[in-house]
Amino acid sequence: MSFSNDGSDYPQQPETRLVTAGRDTEAQKGFVNPPVVHGSTVLYPTADDLHAHRGEYQYGRHGTPTTQALQDVLMALEGPQCAGVGLAPSGLAAISTALLSVLRAGDHLLVCDNVYRPSRNFCNGMLARYGVETTYFDPLIGAGIEALFKQNTRAVLVEAPGSQSFEMPDIPAIAAVAHARGALVIDDNTWATPLYHRSLEQGVDISIQAATKYIGGHSDIMFGTISANAKAWPTLAEGIRLLGVCAGPDDVYLALRGLRTLSVRLAQHFRAGLEMARWLQARPEVARVLHPAIEGDPGHAIWKRDFTGASGLFSIVLKPAPQKAVDALLDTVKLFGMGYSWGGFESLVIPFDCSDYRTATKWAPGGPTLRLHIGLESIDDLRADLDRGFAALKAAM
Ligand SMILES: *Cc1c(COP(=O)(O)O)cnc(C)c1O
Repeated sequence: MSFSNDGSDYPQQPETRLVTAGRDTEAQKGFVNPPVVHGSTVLYPTADDLHAHRGEYQYGRHGTPTTQALQDVLMALEGPQCAGVGLAPSGLAAISTALLSVLRAGDHLLVCDNVYRPSRNFCNGMLARYGVETTYFDPLIGAGIEALFKQNTRAVLVEAPGSQSFEMPDIPAIAAVAHARGALVIDDNTWATPLYHRSLEQGVDISIQAATKYIGGHSDIMFGTISANAKAWPTLAEGIRLLGVCAGPDDVYLALRGLRTLSVRLAQHFRAGLEMARWLQARPEVARVLHPAIEGDPGHAIWKRDFTGASGLFSIVLKPAPQKAVDALLDTVKLFGMGYSWGGFESLVIPFDCSDYRTATKWAPGGPTLRLHIGLESIDDLRADLDRGFAALKAAM
């Protein structure tokens, strides 16, 4: 069984595409999965082939049967708007590669104030040195972004929702303005993945995944993917080629392996995350839950309109409590490990504070803030773990 690379004969539903795309049984001599091709040199059979750069593969950096299989699955997942997919050694490298490919000296860039902090560091620390000016904007700005456009605004970077504070930008409204002004829209779509947010169908030109998170799904790889529509792909493909960005074969394979089970993992993270968020909403220690899939969240209407699901990542604002009480909670919970990243099978908790880096908006939640990732453990066990944590918090007040 195999399907054409352009996706025209793929089954319609994304869950099925995740399973069937990128498989070429004959080329794989009957095996279900492609080999992990460790390769730099590709040999050309004749001088004529060499001169003509003839052949499916030319050099390891430009692609192997393993990267091709992964790109085919990502293309099939993104849908017909996707003209090409680039692979990068981390999510941050995917973001920096996209920005470097699209921007040039003298350009102006608009960046949502809730983006992943290292994305800001890249804009402020490197793009500034190359003569690109960045202006940050309120995530809730919507069509009001028009007022921030300059003659030289070439791109807008958004993240929906921001992965700490969970404000939900209105991407279609922002994209309509950006396109009218001739700018490209780049979306960090890591939280929802293309399974729950069809960003390329909503006006986004370049959609990025930190595949380190849900695509990998097992906390064992660093990886990034960059999907682009027909308008943005030639620029992006050229940037990738000029920069020499590529990814290691074992990580490419693990990203492909992760994609095969993405739909079932994400469905469980979604369900368990919502259940835990509702339970936390009812806790006396919690002032607010920041989760756009919860009714009453300020981003709920946009989430309902633009997304078909949510991941297992959200935040809570605790009622005012001293640091030592919050630390007592963190030190007591056992199933919620303390660590950066998310999207693996395991639950995580991390304190965060956006107030020291936001510039376009003020972050004043009114209490200590924790970000939770709900993993694949039993929800009963997770609740019991947090129960013990809240008891320790109260005891240390
Ligand atoms: C983790 C993350 C990144 C960066 O991914 P790395 O693979 O860690 O470089 C980018 N954006 C978001 C939203 C993330 O959560």
